[in-house]
Amino acid sequence: MSGWYPTDTESRPPSTSALFSSSCRWFKSMFSFAWVFSQSVRPCLRPWTRTPFLPSHVSFSSTRPIAITRVQREQESEQARAARLARKRQYEKTRLANENDQEREARLFRQRQYNKLRRANETAEARAARLARMHEYRTACRECETDKQRQERLARERQARADSPQKFLAYQRKFGRKPENREKTKQKNREYRKKHPGVEHLQHEQLSIRRATRLVEQVFSGRSKTIANTYTWKTHTPVSFDDKVEHHCTACHRFRFLKHWWKEKSRPETTETSSNHDRYMCSRCFANDWNLVVPETFSGRLPRLFTSPDYPPPFRKERLKANKSAHDIKKQHEEDEKENERS
Ligand SMILES: [Zn+2]
Repeated sequence: MSGWYPTDTESRPPSTSALFSSSCRWFKSMFSFAWVFSQSVRPCLRPWTRTPFLPSHVSFSSTRPIAITRVQREQESEQARAARLARKRQYEKTRLANENDQEREARLFRQRQYNKLRRANETAEARAARLARMHEYRTACRECETDKQRQERLARERQARADSPQKFLAYQRKFGRKPENREKTKQKNREYRKKHPGVEHLQHEQLSIRRATRLVEQVFSGRSKTIANTYTWKTHTPVSFDDKVEHHCTACHRFRFLKHWWKEKSRPETTETSSNHDRYMCSRCFANDWNLVVPETFSGRLPRLFTSPDYPPPFRKERLKANKSAHDIKKQHEEDEKENERS
């Protein structure tokens, strides 16, 4: 079918769309020329080019709004200031309540960056003051927290430790395991115990801790260490180091920093003797594993620790109330032992 317009392309008149696009291109190129000119050449032609040339060149000052705000703040009354701050607080509160996970992440990231920048430049005094403030805030929070909040916090801390054990280990290695910091920690603990008498009894309420401390007392810090030298266990041998050493406990899977360890005996099929393959267990785990803690060979009468899994019993309540000195408690403890042996 022959059309009503010629099929030959050369004789066809340009369509309206082609005309429009070509004119657009021309306008664009002209505009970009003007823009490039205004950006590069205009600043050189002083001073008659200072007036805005294109609408986008209306002069903008980044410091002007800040200056205006500063002046406004200087002039505002106390009431206006309080109202403004209250409004701001309210706004922040609603924003925090409504933010999603992504926004929260972004906010925390920004805060972390800001803190990093600020802490890189802070002086020693400012740092000490900040740490003191943080410590005060934390102790205030802990003093007024409820039991449930405390449980939740401890669970959170435990979870964080489980999630990134390397981070906590690095922290411990950096701060907790230096001799000078250990002395400081000991001093702090001593002061805390003085301030809160009877806090060591709280520890004593747990059977696992009681068993672990008794095991260490009897095996490692006995007067002649007879138990450590004469008793043998089926799978482990007691090892005592001069100073605290770090080992991985095979039962609780923690890197612990202790003086006394229970080394796993090498199995006959594995003849490797290198120290890298030594496997250790902490006293707390060993004392509470009834299958392991009973000695294989021993001389004389077995201590009650190795014959009953519920031993030793907790302190009596009267003693907790009376809050006697350590010496008195020890004395009473020995008397109790004698009574136990008689019965
Ligand atoms: Zn352990």
